Amino acid sequence: MFRQATVLFSSVLLSISLLPHTLGATPADIRANPDRMQQRINALSAFGANADGGVDRIAFSEADLAGRAHIMDLMREVGLSVRLDTAGNIIGQREGSEPNLPVIMFGSHIDSVPGGGNYDGDVGVIGAIEVIQLLQDNGIRTRHPLEVVSFTDEEGGLTGSRAMIGKVDYRMLSVVSHSGMTIGEGIRTVGGDPNRLDLAERRPGELKAFIELHIEQGAFLDEEDIDIGVVEGIVGIRWWDVTIEGFANHAGTTPMNRRWDAMVSAAEYILAVNRVATGMPGGQVATVGRIRAAPGAPNVIPGEVVLSLEIRDLSAAKMQHVFDEISAAGKRIAEARFTPIRYEEINVASPPAPTDERMRRIIAASADDLGLSFKFMPSGAGHDAQDMALITPTGMIFVPSVKGISHSPKEFTSAEDMANGASVLLRTVLAIDAGALE
Ligand SMILES: [Zn+2]
Repeated sequence: MFRQATVLFSSVLLSISLLPHTLGATPADIRANPDRMQQRINALSAFGANADGGVDRIAFSEADLAGRAHIMDLMREVGLSVRLDTAGNIIGQREGSEPNLPVIMFGSHIDSVPGGGNYDGDVGVIGAIEVIQLLQDNGIRTRHPLEVVSFTDEEGGLTGSRAMIGKVDYRMLSVVSHSGMTIGEGIRTVGGDPNRLDLAERRPGELKAFIELHIEQGAFLDEEDIDIGVVEGIVGIRWWDVTIEGFANHAGTTPMNRRWDAMVSAAEYILAVNRVATGMPGGQVATVGRIRAAPGAPNVIPGEVVLSLEIRDLSAAKMQHVFDEISAAGKRIAEARFTPIRYEEINVASPPAPTDERMRRIIAASADDLGLSFKFMPSGAGHDAQDMALITPTGMIFVPSVKGISHSPKEFTSAEDMANGASVLLRTVLAIDAGALE
């Protein structure tokens, strides 16, 4: 009650003293409405609902189409004018008082993985709509035009944001997605034009900033009971095929001291990978996730093992350092066991995408102003923000995922945490509008 009175009072003050726009003022006590956000998340969860309580809202599926129509309606309901770009990205526009200023863009995605949950992506889109609703309800007009975006096919390869930064690999368009359609057919189905993706591209200077609110999808915030994650960047990923060469021979007649066993070397190598990544300070991770032995028979000493090596970190130099250390350890194993090791780097590498340092400060200050606890952290998962970071100052706001569960119907974020994220998003948008990036 008291809070409501304060909001009313301050918006009256604002409208008297700061018309026609807020000119740097951040309305002191405007907060997102947890109940409204929860209701909107629940309503969105109906599209593609599965028996486990999550969603199968795979990009380009019937459920995705219905969910997209629902989001467009919701955008119109809060006063946005809605358009689709040629990649099928849904864009809700709100005019600024100075129409020539670049656009402040924020949003996320509503497509899911097969067997997904109700929060990944959805919180960012519903949170962005909540921000617009709060601006409307409080009569705030920003100087900059605003755009709320729901990106096309995030889970299938960041299709929408790739198009927006002009980096679509055209071979990708013929890849068959989970929907059964190729990505190109999918783009056409949702109302885009795969032959004119160039038109979806945003030019330099067109955007002032991009901000994505998202669930953490990890357990750090939940376990440490912290309200807001200020994302330092999306980690880079490098992959290798590692081949360990031994000598295939009879497992019954070859004595133990006369073997060049590729599998035994692989076992030592896997432990070394784990030791290297664990043994240095920092958040780097390294993983062997797949292994194949040849010839692969119980009665033959393995002559060759091919395993995968993946390294992730926020810093490209750190990733290289981790690889160099693993490679040195591998060399020692290879020499001691007479099993040469060679590497082939797989070309799926995504470089680290640091967020803008000024954006991190603005997000942290926004959380602090609201009395919320926050922590700086990397994102171990990929997001559309990593693409947008290549063309505009980009920031990401994380809210806790209970037990760190994600890409699962068990994914859960409380209404209060979602609202905290949207409140921080609102303050961040207003701070940027008032010149915090200058
Ligand atoms: Zn996501």
